[in-house]
Amino acid sequence: MSDIIENFMFFSKLLIPTLRESPSDADIVSAKLMVRSGMIRKLASGLYEFLPLGLKVLRKVENIIRCEMNAVGGQEIALPLIFPKDLWIETGRWSIYGRELFRLKDRKNAEFCLAPTSEEAIMDLIRKDVKSYKQLPIMLYQFGTKFRDEIRPRFGIMRSREFLMKDAYSFHTDEADMEKYYQIMFEAYTNICVKCGFKFCIVESSSGQMGGSLSHEFMILADNGETEIVSCECGYSATGEKAECLQIENCKQELHAVEEIFTPSLATVKDVAKFLNLSPEKFVKTLIYIANGNPVAVLTRGDHEINETKLQTLLSANEIKLADEQTVASVTGAPIGFAGPLGLKNVYIVADLSVTGVLNAVSGANKKDYHVKNINYKRDYDADVVADIRKVAYGDICPRCRERKLKFLKGIEVGHIFKLSTRYSKPMNAVYLDSSGKENFIVMGCYGLGVTRIVAATIEQSHDDNGIIWPDNIAPFEVIIVPLNYADEKTKEVTEKVYKELSSRGLDVLIDDRDERPGIKFKDADLIGVPYRITIAERNLADGNVEFKARKDSRDSVELLKPEKAISKILKIFNI
Ligand code: ATP
Ligand code: MG
Repeated sequence: MSDIIENFMFFSKLLIPTLRESPSDADIVSAKLMVRSGMIRKLASGLYEFLPLGLKVLRKVENIIRCEMNAVGGQEIALPLIFPKDLWIETGRWSIYGRELFRLKDRKNAEFCLAPTSEEAIMDLIRKDVKSYKQLPIMLYQFGTKFRDEIRPRFGIMRSREFLMKDAYSFHTDEADMEKYYQIMFEAYTNICVKCGFKFCIVESSSGQMGGSLSHEFMILADNGETEIVSCECGYSATGEKAECLQIENCKQELHAVEEIFTPSLATVKDVAKFLNLSPEKFVKTLIYIANGNPVAVLTRGDHEINETKLQTLLSANEIKLADEQTVASVTGAPIGFAGPLGLKNVYIVADLSVTGVLNAVSGANKKDYHVKNINYKRDYDADVVADIRKVAYGDICPRCRERKLKFLKGIEVGHIFKLSTRYSKPMNAVYLDSSGKENFIVMGCYGLGVTRIVAATIEQSHDDNGIIWPDNIAPFEVIIVPLNYADEKTKEVTEKVYKELSSRGLDVLIDDRDERPGIKFKDADLIGVPYRITIAERNLADGNVEFKARKDSRDSVELLKPEKAISKILKIFNI
């Protein structure tokens, strides 16, 4: 008890259950290290407990974010974690959000959901309490737990079912004011990434079920990242999903007459290409989709893939899916694998930009076991609309500078900012009175940042074989003092002196007072990633010295210093 009152941070007293081995279900380095270093424990799929070390880190990240949000005029609030269904019906998201939304009923059978994000709740607050242009603009933010029944929870706290998000919402009189503030938030997010020490990139992205026009994602570059990013030296970058694709023209060549070819049981581009000894680029692939209940024929070049987000946006459809066998047969007159644009009737046809440039193309013949060759756009077939509906592919040219080839990278999305405009104020009828007393819809921006995901992403970018290497401003403890024999009087005296001097200047200091072998203490100090270590050994104390080592330096780069020197060195590093 007395130790708690004295407030010494002793390793032996804190719950830091480090592990030698990684748990078998940890599937990414950050998850392995977080569990091994005793930061988190798994309760069930996608549900984690934060232990003292983990929570200290989370709170430090939270504070970096809080400072930036306050600096751009944000006001911190706290919304409930449970929302009534009615609000979500108003915006249509009760159905749009689908199965990721955790739904529940109260004892009176009224329906609710657990917050996956809070646009509806905050809009309800604003429509009730903001009536005049004089109250705008305003930015409100919170640190709130979010719940999402992810289809595949994985990578520890990176994609969990319950996580901490900083969500911010800004409200404006018009688009121009929102655009201006969006830029300010863009810069605040950039500052946060810089302060967390990230190697990152900012990409244009799709807004998904959130709605709105343009959005940007803040991506931490990491080989383990789940998101494909394309970028170009000219400054263009986008998620693979959003990346624009240019039209690819083929070299001019003589157009040949259409020919039917017998391709028994060959139903894939790959098989037919092999059979005809042609490259897939010479093919026009035809897939039948169902969009808003109607069949649509979608054409891409044989080596390209359809980007369903682009297609769905183009068709203004709530939902699109591939048609079943029966529908394909009734639309094309052939089984799956033999569809083509030639002679296709009574169906809306969408062609990707690059399809029109494929000369003397091969496609299905809309007849079982047959393909056709030498078909040409406009001469032999047409489309109702030609647009960019494909996924970006290796070798594609940058859509911005139209010169260089795009580079492909992997990233972890930590933040996403959206220009929502009136996506929520219109259905929820959130209006304000302008200076002339006229009613207008409130214009909105929203800004999400995954606090728990930032912790994991930091570890992905900053670790070695021995464990985590925390940046100085996020570390759970900035300094660890390792007395090799805490029972020794002199050792204890120096340890406590160094501890008191550093902690009285505001640093978080941990004393490894455990009766363990030095090797184990050093291993744990490296594993939990404390940036600076002071080792106190009797043999060095004989000369009045302690050992100083920075976590990021190699194992043998230790310095022997007088305790006062070690203290002043650390204070200098932290600018205290
Ligand atoms: P993702 O594409 O990774 O599923 P999202 O587009 O669904 O992310 P947003 O709705 O924009 O994410 O949420 C804002 C932020 O919340 C994300 O940038 C991310 O940092 C974090 N986040 C989202 N889902 C999770 C999750 N399942 N676990 C941890 N953090 C998450
Ligand atoms: Mg998601």
